[in-house]
Amino acid sequence: MPEGDTILRAAQAMHKALANRVVTRFESVYPALTRIADDHPIVGRTIESVTARGKHLLIAFSGDLILRTHMRMNGSWHLYRPGARWQRPARDVRVLVGTDHAIAVGFNVPVAELLTPGELERHKDVSALGPDLLGESDFDTEEVIRRMRSHPRDAIADVLLNQRVVAGIGNVFKSEILFAAGIDPFTPVAALGDAELRRIVAVALEQLRANVLDRSQTLMRRTGRRTTRSLDPDANLWVYSRGGKPCRTCGTAIASKKTGLDARITYWCPQCQRRSYPVS
Ligand SMILES: [Zn+2]
Repeated sequence: MPEGDTILRAAQAMHKALANRVVTRFESVYPALTRIADDHPIVGRTIESVTARGKHLLIAFSGDLILRTHMRMNGSWHLYRPGARWQRPARDVRVLVGTDHAIAVGFNVPVAELLTPGELERHKDVSALGPDLLGESDFDTEEVIRRMRSHPRDAIADVLLNQRVVAGIGNVFKSEILFAAGIDPFTPVAALGDAELRRIVAVALEQLRANVLDRSQTLMRRTGRRTTRSLDPDANLWVYSRGGKPCRTCGTAIASKKTGLDARITYWCPQCQRRSYPVS
């Protein structure tokens, strides 16, 4: 699943390339989408903005129509100059928004629908989102903690991935945040104090925001996502994808475990993130 910082950066790049330009081409393989576009043509409208809301990417067109897409596990948006060669096969295209200046191609994007602003606000997936770590408005830490507390028996690692609790965290940041906060990922929320939950949220804010800022600087282009302070691309994450390798802090072998329905892997250091709750 893409992380919130990935979606936000995609939205920022698309906004820069597409905003205030007129749509000259709109295509989709989804009948529900093309049916609406037949009745309310997208071609000829101006693209007003491209924004991210949690992991939803929203393209707003003039005349009060919004294209909502969600990447789930494998979807991605690419930007191309008209006529440029695509990096993915045309059969993977699910939706395409073109202008004379740039073409946005949604490859394997599994969720795409056209909504009015009112429909978007009422949309169950969007309206239920927890506070957005990368949102523009003031971030409400206490609201996140309230939402965490409503899942007392869930492991903190699973709660961090729950977009209804807090929006923006994917599997990479889940492991990285809990390492930096020194919390065992399988600790039930009920076993954590408010101070620990606040520390986790503070680390989450710091890590996601640092990665959005980093990417706007060319120096960081080569290094990819990072949560450590190292500029070495081989040393930019604490635990994610480092199973069996020595912890960068204490040297203990990093542990990994598949959990949940889609068998996402959690990484942690058994020494730095020692269990602090009784096993039932
Ligand atoms: Zn360690």
